Amino acid sequence: MVKYKFNKEELKQLLDYCIERYENTTDDKEKERLGLSILTYYNMYMIANDEKESQYEQKLVVIRKGLMNETKPFVDRSYLKFLLKLMNNIARTQWKHHEYKYASMRCLNNGLIKISKAFYYSLGDEEIYKLACKILNNPQIIHIVKYSNKTLHFKNFIGITNEDYTFKKVYMAVKKTNTILDMLTLNHEVMHGIDFYFREKIPSENYYGFQEVSAYAVNHLFIDFLKEMEISDKEIPKLKEKMLWLLLDLAQDTKIDLENNIKQEFGKKKMLSLKTSDIFKVISNDILESLIQIQAYVMAYGLYWQIKQNKESGIRNLKYFMSNIIPKNRIPDFSAIGLSPDVLLDLSKKIAIIEFDDEKKLIIK
Ligand SMILES: [Zn+2]
Repeated sequence: MVKYKFNKEELKQLLDYCIERYENTTDDKEKERLGLSILTYYNMYMIANDEKESQYEQKLVVIRKGLMNETKPFVDRSYLKFLLKLMNNIARTQWKHHEYKYASMRCLNNGLIKISKAFYYSLGDEEIYKLACKILNNPQIIHIVKYSNKTLHFKNFIGITNEDYTFKKVYMAVKKTNTILDMLTLNHEVMHGIDFYFREKIPSENYYGFQEVSAYAVNHLFIDFLKEMEISDKEIPKLKEKMLWLLLDLAQDTKIDLENNIKQEFGKKKMLSLKTSDIFKVISNDILESLIQIQAYVMAYGLYWQIKQNKESGIRNLKYFMSNIIPKNRIPDFSAIGLSPDVLLDLSKKIAIIEFDDEKKLIIK
């Protein structure tokens, strides 16, 4: 049987090779690529060995520092205003939180791979399918392990994908929970890989924070695919709700964080009574990151609904999104794929309704 495991020796060799090149290059661009690849090999090597610390720690500190020297994302007043509106619309959504447990569902690794291929085939786009197969047919870049709380590295995720910008490859690890989540996780990670193969997005050239758009769009699409496959009716609504919570929780938590910062700086003043320039003062990097993440999640819903309404043009927009980088020196604008600020604001008000009430059909421009 095929083993979905990383080759530890190969990862170590690549890691050593890239560190040596990193230390000897004076070219900034090459240094960035190598630095990113080193972090990838390191993460994957640690996952494969289930180690917490290694001989590489000290070198890694320097490399991480080198990569962090990035400029802040471009955010002006009008964009911040838009992000806050988006957050407020979502945070306002009323939704009762159910805590679900997923039923046990064992699936062999080969089975997971097969389902993933069938899903990507069902999207009906040759290019996407080919890239999915390029990933899924290579058991050395997919590492599947049993879920455990005791895992040392890679603790907070059940799936992770890292890119190798030097040898143009992706590596992904998935923790198996023996529930329906395993299928979702694998497909999500594969989409990160497809996104990379469509066009690599080097952090110094690409606007920060939109890396989850295509992968979350795939989550939504895959949940629908499961419905068609008639896999476990009871589990599917749980997954749908999970996706919605993720967004609602993020919006509500971000709002609370922001309100706390406002209280500290301005006393009891309410967010709405403040000028955008005042709010600017209390926006931390974390909050900004979350605000952009909220936009990314709403965009994922947007692309998903586009595909549901008109598969061909929706998929075309998804591919357009993956094939282009987002310029860093201006406000990210996705009007070209039908996701202008107005459309996103409109969607943000209706998310729960569209997702859970098929009667109320939405017209997406
Ligand atoms: Zn992801």
